[in-house]
Amino acid sequence: MPSNLSTTSAAELDRCLALAAPAASAHADVALEAARRARSLALELGRPADAGRAGVWACAHLLRQGRYDELLHEAELGRPLVAREGLQAEHRELLRLLSLAGSEAGSFEVALKAAHELVALSAEAGDDAALTAALALAVCFERMGDSWQAMRLLEEALREHGSAGADAPEPVLLPLLMASNGLCATALGIAHRLFDLDDADELRDVLALARLAGERASELLSRMPDPVYRVAVMGNLGEVLMYQGDTEAAAPLVHGAYEQARRLGLRAYAWRIQATLGALLVARNEPLQAMLSMRELVAEMGEHAPPQTLVRTHHVAYCAGRALGRCEEALGHFEAAERIERRRTMAQLRAQSTLFVTRSEAQHAQWQAEQARREAQEQRERAAAAAEHAERDPLTGLGNRRHLLKRCAELLPAARRHQRPLALALLDLDRFKAVNDTHGHAVGDAVLVALAQLLRESMRTDDVLVRHGGEEFVLVLPGLAAEAAVEVCERLRERVAAFPWHSGCGTTVPVTASLGLATAPAYELEVLLARADHALYRAKAAGRNRVLLAPA
Ligand code: GH3
Ligand code: MG
Ligand code: MG
Repeated sequence: MPSNLSTTSAAELDRCLALAAPAASAHADVALEAARRARSLALELGRPADAGRAGVWACAHLLRQGRYDELLHEAELGRPLVAREGLQAEHRELLRLLSLAGSEAGSFEVALKAAHELVALSAEAGDDAALTAALALAVCFERMGDSWQAMRLLEEALREHGSAGADAPEPVLLPLLMASNGLCATALGIAHRLFDLDDADELRDVLALARLAGERASELLSRMPDPVYRVAVMGNLGEVLMYQGDTEAAAPLVHGAYEQARRLGLRAYAWRIQATLGALLVARNEPLQAMLSMRELVAEMGEHAPPQTLVRTHHVAYCAGRALGRCEEALGHFEAAERIERRRTMAQLRAQSTLFVTRSEAQHAQWQAEQARREAQEQRERAAAAAEHAERDPLTGLGNRRHLLKRCAELLPAARRHQRPLALALLDLDRFKAVNDTHGHAVGDAVLVALAQLLRESMRTDDVLVRHGGEEFVLVLPGLAAEAAVEVCERLRERVAAFPWHSGCGTTVPVTASLGLATAPAYELEVLLARADHALYRAKAAGRNRVLLAPA
């Protein structure tokens, strides 16, 4: 029966998922098989999220075994599913694995691209994600040969996201442990570079830093036991102790880590730690054992050898050969290590060159985006200025008819809603034609400008004052009922009449104004204007220089 079948498959899927989880301590081969089986079962059962997760776990197990090329392939295949299902944490984990595998395999462009994507995705995702991303980027730099950059990155990330230290909340513990272990490994990498350079002080300092970081990782490990990180942390810390000259303390750590790595099928870790065991044999004056072990290791790793581990292996063999007085054999290992280093340097330069191009392209794109933003802003400002301009009277700087319409569209409905009083006045200069005729148009203009200034100063900020045309102005006085409005208009009229108008060549200019006033309701501009105009007409007829209120 299909339903029975799917029940069986569902149970099988759950069993595989439990085996495949990276935190479980199944042997890496078993876990990898379980992850792959879980992925295909989940796809058959229509559980794409589980399929995506299982795919990521498969990659994690491939990393532990040092099967980098397979990982790069599977990760690329798994990405669309993880992205489509919106599995953000899994997506980040996949990028981390891609980046680490690329770094280990010497595919630096792939590694850097993945690490940069991871950094971008992690920006908003909390301290744990930020630490993890910084570690991935640091490993890229470290494997590319820039250990100092890697160390700066890690120290900065730990300062910024790891301040809670051992009291860190649960989700940050593992990334904190990973970053501390990463710092230890990076400092160790610098120590390796310093070995042949006779810089004892720097070597001592960097080993002290490695030890601090390693001990911190070890402390964190006691708070959250993880069999795989236990291997990594013990292996690194043991190596530091060995270089510091404490072979007694180093030996049990390195041996323990090695055995656990073999037991769990962590091939890549076991290889690396085996090289450290070789160095330990050299340090204990057992060069022959060391040489044999390194030869075995080179043969076992074959074409799958991670470049950095292979360099270390040849270096230990070189030291052993020298101690044995086998110069030719030692030289062979020295040259082999040099060749790998040269290849790494070339890959590094190539990746950096690509990165540089990418970065300058990115800068160009950023510059273009900024330019576009600036232009859009200028465009908006120009449009605003044009709109503003369209509402202004150029001679007096007052608003014009368009401005009056706009302001009244807001003021009148608001006044109506609250049943508040409002007055509108039309002010017209008396016999202004005569002013022009007698003193010239320029003096007429000057009078209009000065009048605008005088009116503006006499009004409140909420009032509206516009030049309606020629020598005619409109005043809107919100909140004023008839009596108060008449008072205000009367005061304005007096001020105009009292103002010492001069022509500029000694003669006084007779300037007075008549005002027609209308009050709400109605709350309609056209109605108020018509009534005010009528009142103004009557004011003129009644002899000018006066205020008349339209009947309600
Ligand atoms: P009243 O309103 O008292 O009846 O007489 P008035 O002479 O003011 O009336 P009328 O409407 O006949 O004339 C208005 C004059 O205002 C006509 C024009 O010369 C003058 N005027 C209109 N706009 C401007 C302007 O921008 N500058 C100047 N200098 N004069 C203007
Ligand atoms: Mg007039
Ligand atoms: Mg007029």
